[in-house]
Amino acid sequence: MEVPLSRPDITGKEKDSVLEVLSSPYLSMGPKVGEFEQLIADFTGRKYAVAVSSGTAALHLIIKALGIGKGDEVITTPFSFIASANCLLYEGAVPVFADIEPRTLNLDMNKVEAKITPRTRAILPVHVFGQPGNMSTLKTLAASHSLPVVEDSCEALGAVYKGTPAGGWGVAAAFAFYPNKQITTGEGGVVVTDSPEINRLCRSMRNQGRGEQNLWLQHPRLGYNYRMDELSAALGCAQMGRVREILVRRQEVADRYKRLLSGIRGVILPYVEPGVEMSWFVYVIRMEQGVNRDKVMDYLTDHGVQCRPYFTPIHLQDFYREQLGYREGDFPITEGVSKSTLALPFFNNITEGEMEYVAATLAKAVRQFGG
Ligand SMILES: *Cc1c(COP(=O)(O)O)cnc(C)c1O
Repeated sequence: MEVPLSRPDITGKEKDSVLEVLSSPYLSMGPKVGEFEQLIADFTGRKYAVAVSSGTAALHLIIKALGIGKGDEVITTPFSFIASANCLLYEGAVPVFADIEPRTLNLDMNKVEAKITPRTRAILPVHVFGQPGNMSTLKTLAASHSLPVVEDSCEALGAVYKGTPAGGWGVAAAFAFYPNKQITTGEGGVVVTDSPEINRLCRSMRNQGRGEQNLWLQHPRLGYNYRMDELSAALGCAQMGRVREILVRRQEVADRYKRLLSGIRGVILPYVEPGVEMSWFVYVIRMEQGVNRDKVMDYLTDHGVQCRPYFTPIHLQDFYREQLGYREGDFPITEGVSKSTLALPFFNNITEGEMEYVAATLAKAVRQFGG
């Protein structure tokens, strides 16, 4: 049996929605982007949503809109997809990492304060794998230092912490819609915020720095082409029409995996903090000490089960070491965790048979390579 890591879930509704755009006069800058933005704003409970071409573009625009630039420091996590730190490097700002909390794998809020200096301009937590970090603690801390919080919510559409949705905590938040995320637009992302100023700047900068009147060749500021096209927005609208159903299904898959895997010695299942409503992005298990993670991965791959280590610490990527002087040992919890993680196949339409096969193959692998 072959079980992929991820597989898109596209129904007739998505196809009809995209085809409708193809028969319309607008392939870009038409009505669908605005419709998609309204759906996202309503869903996340924010005043404004600005659709863009990727989650990375959304993060970049937030950093620009906050005026963060050369030499400014932003405190963030080394255990993330690289875009959450790269968006700072684009502007010459410095990602200052703090280590993570070993169970939720999110930024350890107890380690943030010690990193604050007079050059700190913001704190950028990432809701890793769809679990919001301890945002109430972070908000209090950030407020006491008058620092804005920017949420990288790219993995957490629909997650809730203490009654507030992911993307609802910071001054602004980014979501992403790459095909393996909870919902997809192909490529795409969005900025959400309640700030009219951030909304105005992000709208301008995604569209080549055009002003509010949107005049064809008037560019009051430096901008980019970070627009989302109408086909992507139409796909996103149809996906948003199913978002509740999709999130419920992903919870069912996670629940089923939990029951199938809980008996396997040597395997640590994902931890969900009380007070968190998880929005499952990927299903990442960890190997206990003594289990050879790389051999387990090879075994799974050889038996048709696609899997990946998630994540390689950002500070250990070559150019981060070279440019910022980070070294092995700087963030021991992140480094230890990242050597033990393994993402299993996880997608809406995974079958019972596929999940059982994944579990059985994993059990054999762990028995063979420690545990
Ligand atoms: C997916 C993701 C992004 C942005 O992704 P794009 O591929 O640019 O849409 C940013 N941060 C995190 C944590 C992500 O998982």
